[in-house]
Amino acid sequence: MARAILVAALLLLTALLLVACASGGEPDLSPACPPGVGRGMWDLDLPWSEEDGSADGAAGRLLGDPDFGATPEAARDLEAGVVDERLVAVLRAVTERHRVCVEAFKEGHYFEPGVPDGPRIPEGYGEAGGLPNTHYFGRAADVWWVDGKPVEGNAADPEMLDVGRTLAGIPARRRPDQIIGPAAWSNSLGYGREWGWVLERDQLELHADHIHLGYMDERGTRNAR
Ligand SMILES: [Zn+2]
Repeated sequence: MARAILVAALLLLTALLLVACASGGEPDLSPACPPGVGRGMWDLDLPWSEEDGSADGAAGRLLGDPDFGATPEAARDLEAGVVDERLVAVLRAVTERHRVCVEAFKEGHYFEPGVPDGPRIPEGYGEAGGLPNTHYFGRAADVWWVDGKPVEGNAADPEMLDVGRTLAGIPARRRPDQIIGPAAWSNSLGYGREWGWVLERDQLELHADHIHLGYMDERGTRNAR
């Protein structure tokens, strides 16, 4: 019986999608996160199964944007309002041009597997050990996929580089001041510390597979004008 209902729901969903696609232009059906990772159309996230934890305002609009994907943990952070509004605004700017999948804001972020994060970066995490952990304060996002491709191995792709240029186009006082990605990405872009990029070699090595966007301080930014 349950199976029959599921099949009926799937048929209905397919019909709705066909109608939606017929009225739109060139739909891109691939979800922002790979299948099984985050919220995407393949995850049977049916409207009536949604919990009533919907976020308001910019965070809610980001969650509703098909070009934005997130793991369930990251989506919960957005719903709970723990993500810094500057970060939400930056992700909305990026999703105007690209599809991105966020693996973690605060919940589900680990420096060491199985060790709960605290307010400081653990000793041993490169030279950054002991510094404030911006993820813990909801001021950082880790992007692991861009336009359906993993960051790892695609760091110098045009789309990946355009994400960097989109970030650079954000006014300095709104732009993250902790932008860390793979060495090939950072080197190709060529933005320095004054633009918000972190270029320490150990950090580039630790970010071979994702782009970290963070704000060091609760307010403002350390970027030069
Ligand atoms: Zn990070």
